Amino acid sequence: MSDSYVSLVNGGLGGTVAKKLGLPRPGVLRRQTPDAPFAPGPVLVLGSPASADADAVAQLILTSDGGADLDIRRAAAGASARWGAVVVVLSDVEHPRDLAAPMLDLSGALRALAPGGRVVTISREATSSDTPSVAAARQGVDGALRSLAKELRAGATGNGIVLAGGVDLTAASVGAALRFFLSPRSAFVDGQLLTVSSVAGEAPGSWDRPLEGRVAVVTGAARGIGAAIARVLARDGARVVVVDVPAAGEALAALANEVRGTALQLDITAPDAGERIIDHAVSRHGGLDIVVHNAGITRDKLLANMSPEQWDSVLAVNIGAQLTINEALLASPAFTRSPRIVSLASTSGIAGNRGQTNYAASKGGVIGMVRATGPLLAGVGGTANAVAPGFIETEMTSRIPFATREVARRLNSLQQAGLPVDVAEAVAFLAGPAAGGINGEVLRVCGQNLVGA
Ligand code: NAD
Repeated sequence: MSDSYVSLVNGGLGGTVAKKLGLPRPGVLRRQTPDAPFAPGPVLVLGSPASADADAVAQLILTSDGGADLDIRRAAAGASARWGAVVVVLSDVEHPRDLAAPMLDLSGALRALAPGGRVVTISREATSSDTPSVAAARQGVDGALRSLAKELRAGATGNGIVLAGGVDLTAASVGAALRFFLSPRSAFVDGQLLTVSSVAGEAPGSWDRPLEGRVAVVTGAARGIGAAIARVLARDGARVVVVDVPAAGEALAALANEVRGTALQLDITAPDAGERIIDHAVSRHGGLDIVVHNAGITRDKLLANMSPEQWDSVLAVNIGAQLTINEALLASPAFTRSPRIVSLASTSGIAGNRGQTNYAASKGGVIGMVRATGPLLAGVGGTANAVAPGFIETEMTSRIPFATREVARRLNSLQQAGLPVDVAEAVAFLAGPAAGGINGEVLRVCGQNLVGA
C-alpha cells in the first residue's frame, strides 16, 4: 500500500524520463517527524503595508511556541533563503481592488517558495449582510486561494483561514489553524478554507503533547486510518481506547499494547454501543473527552443493481451507529469536559462518486450530522467536526482495480494519494483544546481533488 511512482519520479533518471514524457511529477510531501522544523525557511507575512492585521499575524506567529526560532518578515526584500511559508492577511479587504496589492506581492514571492512550502490566507467570511463590494472582496479570496493551490508544485500547499463575524486574530483557534496549516502535519490538506466561528478554545500547556490528560476513543481502529489516528492521538498525549469488531481482536489488542491504551471489542451498530464505550472509558481511564467515529465500510454498486442489504449495512455502520452513539454521549455527564467529536466523512459524500450512492448518502449524512451536533456541544465548550479524506492508501482502497486506482491517485493538486497519518493529523488538530472555535465544519484531507467539489 505505497505509491512507488512518487519515489521513482523524484529519483534522477525517473524524474528526467517523466519530464520528457510530460508525465505527472508529484513532489515529496513534507510530513511530521520528531525533529521536523516548523517551516522549511523564513515566513513572509503579506498584507497592505499599513495593515494592522498583518502586523498582528506576524506577532502571533513570533510569539507562538516555537515561533521565536522562526525568521518572520513583513516584506520580501533582503531575504537570503527560499520562503518556508507566505501568510497573506486579507482580513481587511473591502473591495475587490484591495486584493491586487497583496496578491501581486504574493506572485513575486511564489517563485522563491521552498519545496514543501505553505501559503496561508487569512480572510473574513462573506455574508449576505455585508455590502456587495465587501462580500465580493471576501468571497474573492476563496476563489483565488483555491486556484493558487492548483498552481503550487513540489509538495507545497495553499489553505485559508476564514474568520466569522465577531472572531478576531487573537482567537485561540486562529492561532491553532495557522500553526496546523504551516506545519508538516497538514501535508495532504490543500486548497481548503477552514472557518473559525467562535473565540472558544485555549492553547494547550504543551504543543508537543496537546492532548495530555485527555481520554480518546477511536472506532474501527484495528487497521488503516483508525490505527493511524490512535497512534497520533497517543503521540499527542491522549490515553486511547481502540474499538473494533471481535473478528479484528488480535490486531486490536496489538495496537492497544503499542499505544499503551485499552481495547474494546464492539460492533458499533449494537444498540448499546454508546453506553458500552462510555462505561469502558470511565471505568478504565476515569472519563471520556474525545470520540473519533472512524469505523466505516463500503458496499459499492450502481444504484440500479443495489440490494437492500448493501444499502442498509453501509448506512447502519457509517451514519446510523454514529447518531446512536452521539445520543448516548450527549446524555452523559462524563462527556462534558470540552468534549470533541470528530467523524470520518469522505469527499464522495461531497462530490459524489459513481457506484457509491449508499456510501455517499452515509458520508453526506455525517457532514449534516456534525453541523447539527456542534451547537449541541458548544454549551460545554465542545465541538463536532468532520474530516473528509480523499484517496488514501489503505486496505479499503487497495481493493480498487489498478488502473482506476492509478487515475484516482493522480487526480488531485498534489498528484498522489494521502497516507493514513495525514488524516490522523487533521483529526488530532480538531480534537485539540485550541480548536474549540472550529465547530460543525468539514476539513478535507484530499490533496485538493480535481474531480467534483
Ligand atoms: P478500513 O476498511 O481499512 O478499516 C475500517 C475499520 O473499521 C476496520 O478495522 C473494520 O473492522 C472496522 N469496522 C467496520 N465495521 C465496524 C463495526 N460495525 N464496528 C466496529 N468496527 C467496524 O478503512 P479505512 O480506509 O481505514 O477507512 C477509515 C474511515 O475513513 C472510514 O470511515 C472510511 O469510510 C473513511 N474514508 C477512507 C478513505 C480511503 O481512501 N481509505 C477515503 C474517504 C473516507
